[in-house]
Amino acid sequence: MRTTVGIIGGGPAGLLLARLLHRAGVDCVVLESRDRAYVERRQRAGILEQGTVDVLRECGAAERLDREGLPHQGIELRFEGRSHRVDFPTATGGKSVTVYAQTEIVKDLVRLQLADPGGPPLLFEAEALAIEKADSGAPVIRFRHEGREQTLSCGFVAGCDGFHGIARRAVPAGLVRTFERTYPYSWLGVLADVPPSCEELIYARHQRGFALHSMRSPQVSRLYLQVPNGTDPADWSDERIWDELSTRFALDTGGWRLERGPITAKSVTPMRSFVQEPMRHGRLFLAGDAAHIVPPTGAKGLNLAVGDVVTLARALAHHHTTGSTELLDGYSAACLARVWQAERFSYAMTDTLHRRPEQSPFEDRLQIAQLDRIATSHTASAELAENYVGLPLS
Ligand SMILES: Cc1cc2nc3c(=O)[nH]c(=O)nc-3n(C[C@H](O)[C@H](O)[C@H](O)COP(=O)(O)OP(=O)(O)OC[C@H]3O[C@@H](n4cnc5c(N)ncnc54)[C@H](O)[C@@H]3O)c2cc1C
Repeated sequence: MRTTVGIIGGGPAGLLLARLLHRAGVDCVVLESRDRAYVERRQRAGILEQGTVDVLRECGAAERLDREGLPHQGIELRFEGRSHRVDFPTATGGKSVTVYAQTEIVKDLVRLQLADPGGPPLLFEAEALAIEKADSGAPVIRFRHEGREQTLSCGFVAGCDGFHGIARRAVPAGLVRTFERTYPYSWLGVLADVPPSCEELIYARHQRGFALHSMRSPQVSRLYLQVPNGTDPADWSDERIWDELSTRFALDTGGWRLERGPITAKSVTPMRSFVQEPMRHGRLFLAGDAAHIVPPTGAKGLNLAVGDVVTLARALAHHHTTGSTELLDGYSAACLARVWQAERFSYAMTDTLHRRPEQSPFEDRLQIAQLDRIATSHTASAELAENYVGLPLS
């Protein structure tokens, strides 16, 4: 097999890149190691920045998003039994975010790609095994599909295979720098068949730990609790989860109740910050979680992946039409500038809202002072809002 761009990974980054390249007249092939049902069910992100929504619209992938996505104009912060709302449009000159699950974006992009007879091939259960000759003019992806090993000869390789994929490890160790931080806590996330108890997301800082009330639709709530690393979800009965969430979201004034319902999924996610630089090696380009990870507190992971592939698709299309490598040469630096802003914001949100196991009373007071500052200063509130709705895609 031969193609211009071999894309490893059929998550949001790989699928959107294929769509953008196809529309720009650049041929590509997507290799995805899992089957379609698995990829379409994997519960992950759900908050889309304005720029992400705009890109999905521009490439014709937002028909259902426009019907079913929930526009959100702000978030609520809860701390010390108090509540404060951050209004996005006021602070950002009219911007907002949209709640629409990553699973639904993946379903929409898969359906579009498979429905188009002239569209790029999307191979499920096609596991990339190795990338060869990445620094030559003709890289090759070795992959296993339908029980046999095959090769895909490419002009370029896009490594969109997430944090555990092979692409970032294909870059020789001496040519990369990695930056990493792990956190001494994880998130226990649940999906519940109950209408959300709030109209906007609630981020709660509590002496017992962080809690987040999010949602996937008007009927489905998504809730998270900070738990110690190594927590087994089986140790948390449904009743214990609801009790703990109610405690952490409680307001001194009362008057607000967390509605309970059947929990349909439970999982524990460790928190990590990670960046690999540069995001390019020869003709191999890394995009999305393959190059960087953020803790989910700032809702940036999916949006960063979208930013990367928009930049990459533009650079590949530019090369295709002009032969110039100028935009490809600038790819890594352009993405990393945005990535580090998201790393900074996600770290700050995480650090302000979570309690470390050994946290001192002094550090408690600092966190509360920071939240008070957001609640009382337009500048501090605008800083949060601008980062949350997303910096402009360059
Ligand atoms: C458990 C979890 C919860 C999250 N929650 C949030 C959240 O609430 N908010 C938020 O903004 N972000 C969240 N994220 C982050 C967000 O989901 C990711 O940033 C986003 O999925 C990145 O998309 P991607 O396409 O780069 O990578 P992925 O979605 O990881 O996709 C990579 C794809 O590559 C495939 N693949 C891997 N190896 C190979 C191979 N060798 N050959 C072929 N295919 C391969 C994988 O099967 C996968 O389909 C979460 C992530 C995780 C893991």
